[in-house]
This record gives sequence, C-alpha cells and structure tokens, in this order.
Amino acid sequence: MPKSKFVDFKAVKAAITMEQVLEHYGLLDKFKRSGDSLSGSCPIHKGSNPTQFSVSVSKNAWNCFSECKHGGNTLDFIAEMEDVSILAAANKAIEWFHLDPEAVYGDSEPEAEETGEETKNADTTRPKPVATPAPVQESGAPNKPLQFRLDKLQREHPYLAERGLTLETLVDFGVGFCAKGMMADRIAIPIRNVEGAVVAYAGRWPGEPAEDTPKYKLPQGFRKSLELFNLDRAVKEPSDKPLVLVEGFFGCMTLHQHGCRKVVALMGSTMSATQEELIRKYTNAQSQVIVMLDEDDAGRAGREDIAVRLARFVFVKVHAFAEEGHQPEQLSAEEVAQVCGGVQ
Ligand SMILES: [Zn+2]
Repeated sequence: MPKSKFVDFKAVKAAITMEQVLEHYGLLDKFKRSGDSLSGSCPIHKGSNPTQFSVSVSKNAWNCFSECKHGGNTLDFIAEMEDVSILAAANKAIEWFHLDPEAVYGDSEPEAEETGEETKNADTTRPKPVATPAPVQESGAPNKPLQFRLDKLQREHPYLAERGLTLETLVDFGVGFCAKGMMADRIAIPIRNVEGAVVAYAGRWPGEPAEDTPKYKLPQGFRKSLELFNLDRAVKEPSDKPLVLVEGFFGCMTLHQHGCRKVVALMGSTMSATQEELIRKYTNAQSQVIVMLDEDDAGRAGREDIAVRLARFVFVKVHAFAEEGHQPEQLSAEEVAQVCGGVQ
C-alpha cells in the first residue's frame, strides 16, 4: 500500500456492480433472479435457506435476513466474504476488476492545513455557520481505516454478560474480550467510519479499573471527535425513523439490542463540530433526533448544548431519565420502544 495514496471508496463503489462481484465469486448463476432482485442462500454465513439473502441489482446492495442480519454495498460484501477491512476490500476490487488507478486513488492524504486552535477546541467551540453543504472538516486528517482486524475475540466474558449484551449483539457489533496484543485484557469494540471501515478499536477495561488504569484505551492518534459510533449502520435505517444520540458504546449496543437500530454514540457527553456536521449530512429538515445522554451533570450539560445546536436543522427531543445516574442501559425493551418510537 503506497502511503501517499488513499482509496476513494466512492469511486470504487461507483465502478463496480453487485452482479460483477457475485460473478467474481462464481455465485451469479446460483441466484434466482426476479425483477430487480437476486436471491439465494447467504454466501457469507454459508446458510442453506434460499430466500435469506437478497441483492438489489439496481442499488448494488445486499441483505442477509438470517444470521448476518445486515447488509451493505459491494465493498461491504467483499469485506465480509474475505473477512478484511473495507480498505482491503476496496484494494481487492481495484485489482480484480482492473479499475483505473487515476479514478480510484486520491493523490495524497488530505494534509492538515492548519493546526492548533481549532483542533484543540474542537469539542467545545460552536460551529461556524455553514453557507453551503460543506464537507465534514475539522483541521487535520480523517482517521485512517485500520489495515488489520482483531480476530479471535472472546464473546463469552462475564463482563459482557453482566452488561446484558446477548451473543447476537456482540457478534453484530464485532465486540469481544481480547486476550493479547494492543487491547490485551480489554473488551475490544470496533469503531467504524460512515463507510463502514474500522478506524479504531476502543478497549474497555472489564469492570472498575484500578486508579492508574484508564477505563477506555484508544489507539494513539485516533480522534473520536471525528466519528459517531454505529453511524455506518444508522444511516441505512429509514429516514422517517428518529435518530437516537447516546453517550457510550454500551448504551448504543443496548438500545440496538432492544430494536432501536437507528442509534449512534458520541463517545462522550459533548458533540464535536464534526459530529454535528455528520448528523446534518445524514438528516434533513423533517428528521427527528432524540438526545439521550446519561442523567448526570455532564450528561445534562451536554444535552442542553447539543439540543440547541441540532434544533437549527432537525426536530429535537431531549430524553431525561427520572432517576439520577440512569442511562440508556437501564431502559427495558418496552421503554425503548416507547421512547425511540418517535418525536411527538
Ligand atoms: Zn448471512
């Protein structure tokens, strides 16, 4: 991988079709065609039910209604089939389909034009008024997709059971206990960018850490203020569903487990300018956002600020918990259905 080149995922996706990708795997003939859709058994989890996997030919999208319980675009499909990152999948597609390097490689990583001020205050400054739908930019380069994946994560861990997460949710989010390496002895949580590429792993200490041990470990250089956890999947949910905004990974995963799938986590109790822009980009004037931060001082301060900022372009509802200290994880499935159902 030449370091100075970056892959333009959009260009790669625009250059290939799901039919081509299926053909590459020798699967195209095995699928049943009906109008715009192709269906068959899922080649990712290697299922046997012939209706569980379907492809929209015109949208170049796929979905597995069975074990995988998700879908995606051409690159997501290659990434799943090869068990690699989106970046690696894109590089494979470039190679397999002989895509034009001019079209799919950018010249260089966008360099930081300015440093200092803006970055430093990114989490607290009010965003500048945006005259045109500007691209998401804080100064500095975006988080780069990782070139590796942590595998052999242990899904069965007392801490994860204690947090009430089911095996299905853990598999779905790719979360598990990491025995060795960078995130050794921690619960590794993959953080993906909106394209679905893993840009970092967050390592949660399983339990209350000792004083000198941080609760969360993030890779050096990774800037969480540039991402919204689970945004890549939330954006695939229907636009008329409200977007739920929570603080942490576990709140996000819990709501998701209870059926509230259009949920993202700020990874803190403040919203950065970039996170605000991401929300703006993937919502419209009819969109609804439910702000559900933890019921503590930081959460209350954060939600006031966030509500004011988001209310300029979406409908906002602030969810307050009745009890001090409560957070999304304390909601039952019924309560989640009620709260996340919509904004009145
Ligand atoms: Zn599947």
